[in-house]
Amino acid sequence: MKALVLHGPNNPFSYENVSDPIPKNGEAVAKVIACGSGLTIQHVKAGRTEVNFPIIIGHEITAELVELRGNCGELKVGMPVTAYFYLTCGYCKWCKINRESLCENFNGYIGRQINGGYAEYISLPAKNFIPLPNTLNYKKYPLETAIICDAIATPLKVIKKGRITNTDKVAVIGAGGGLGIHMLKMLKMYNIDCIALETKTIKEKACKEAGANLFLSTTSNNIIETIQDYTKTYGLDVVVDFVSSKASLELGVSILGKGGRLITLGGSGESFVADSGKMLLKELELIGSRYCTKQEVLDSLELVARKLITPLVTEKVSPLEANELHNKIEMGTVIGRAGIIF
Ligand SMILES: [Zn+2]
Repeated sequence: MKALVLHGPNNPFSYENVSDPIPKNGEAVAKVIACGSGLTIQHVKAGRTEVNFPIIIGHEITAELVELRGNCGELKVGMPVTAYFYLTCGYCKWCKINRESLCENFNGYIGRQINGGYAEYISLPAKNFIPLPNTLNYKKYPLETAIICDAIATPLKVIKKGRITNTDKVAVIGAGGGLGIHMLKMLKMYNIDCIALETKTIKEKACKEAGANLFLSTTSNNIIETIQDYTKTYGLDVVVDFVSSKASLELGVSILGKGGRLITLGGSGESFVADSGKMLLKELELIGSRYCTKQEVLDSLELVARKLITPLVTEKVSPLEANELHNKIEMGTVIGRAGIIF
């Protein structure tokens, strides 16, 4: 099969012939139709995430099953599927209570520890394939369908984890990125008042179209005053931070009002300082959120199938254009999500 192979950190993709994947017992092979391209996988290409090279990256897929080996549960050849990104055990206490992003026997990620979707075929443990609802028009919208399993499902989890309701006022930091735009759309779907915070002012239009009532550049120096005015001095109920740098997290804490929740999802790994006195007086909460559950992927597929939320994919390219596309992702100039059609 043809695949986009990364041979080392910060290497260009090599579009080459590799052996077709051979499924092990309990695994299935699917023919990839489309695969989403976001910052998470660009971190691998750029060498910021450790993986075993050579590797085929990509985990947001639309695909059709072509081969099953051993017990593959409900899966059948010909079924359209997407994927659950994490390799989890399915039997530890966290997997059992539907919090599998905390799996005790976590085995890594599709596209890092095992080959992913930037190829004609992908082989995965059967439990990582999620059948698509038959009301979803994946043939017409393969990339929009592919990105649901992360770009829609991750924001859906944030709504639940942050206990966000439609009387809350929410700010999204990194609102113009692939996850940020879909977070705004998710908040809009729930009729929740939200503000977009973003360094790139060219993304203002897209953020407002996705549902932001107010767009603020994180580089402007009157952010705190503007938010105080906007919230009539009450401060925000929730800040969702997709950047999670020291500066963005400290900004997040500073704009929260009483009972505020700071939700951090960005992978910077940086530490930050918060005033414990203010946290106490305001009863602030710090919440980490990591990807989503399989059920949240299923729920997200349903939300899109029912047209309650629409994925935004603005760049659709062939595998031959993958290097150029990833340069744009690295520069942060893509609006919404991008992806590759195979
Ligand atoms: Zn587990």
